[in-house]
Amino acid sequence: MAFDGITLALSKGRIFEDTLPLLAAAGITPIDDPEKSRKLIIDTNRPDVRLLIVRASDTPTYVQYGAADLGIAGKDVLIEHGGVGLYQPLDLKIARCRMCVAVPKGFDYAAAVRRGARIRVATKYMQTAREHFASKGVHVNLIKLYGSMELAPLVGLADAIVDLVSSGGTLRANNLVEVEEIMAISSRLVVNQASLKMKHTLLQPVIDAFAKVVK
Ligand code: ATP
Ligand code: MG
Repeated sequence: MAFDGITLALSKGRIFEDTLPLLAAAGITPIDDPEKSRKLIIDTNRPDVRLLIVRASDTPTYVQYGAADLGIAGKDVLIEHGGVGLYQPLDLKIARCRMCVAVPKGFDYAAAVRRGARIRVATKYMQTAREHFASKGVHVNLIKLYGSMELAPLVGLADAIVDLVSSGGTLRANNLVEVEEIMAISSRLVVNQASLKMKHTLLQPVIDAFAKVVK
């Protein structure tokens, strides 16, 4: 593990795709395509830069502990993680979507809230959901799921879901409607605070190059 360059953690899929132009602006080109290669450590054209391919929700953890110097993670993921030990210098404005509350078409969410009914909400985003409903004084029972939240209301597991939406296609396909937007989501650059000091001369140009593209 004697690598003294910089290590960037990111997930494959949309974040990797949207990060390629940012990397290019910093003069960084990955050698392998993570969709094709099974390698989890991907070298780049620069011997002092490598990429770690991690699960989206694991990115903050790799950076927090310094296994990666920097990473790219959705605001959704950062809220759930808590952001401990992470410097967040840039909103990269990539992988944009929104966090929202959705219910089955016939369910009168507003009436349930007015009645003070205890609403059952299925979500992968426990922290975000807890804070949202607490701030509105809505009583909820949160049910933790790891994916496909849209299924829960269809089979009576929950009355509502808290999930990410971009086009709304998945909601429509499952007869769900968005009833509340909780927040806009995009991905951020996160940096390990110790790395920022120790590897400043390597990291700062990369951060600056990213910032220039975002503007
Ligand atoms: P996994 O798919 O491995 O369960 P995940 O859903 O968190 O994990 P991705 O689907 O790669 O991982 O999403 C990565 C990030 O992209 C999310 O954390 C979120 O910020 C953003 N994102 C998720 N869904 C969408 C979407 N439909 N449109 C745009 N951005 C999205
Ligand atoms: Mg996903």
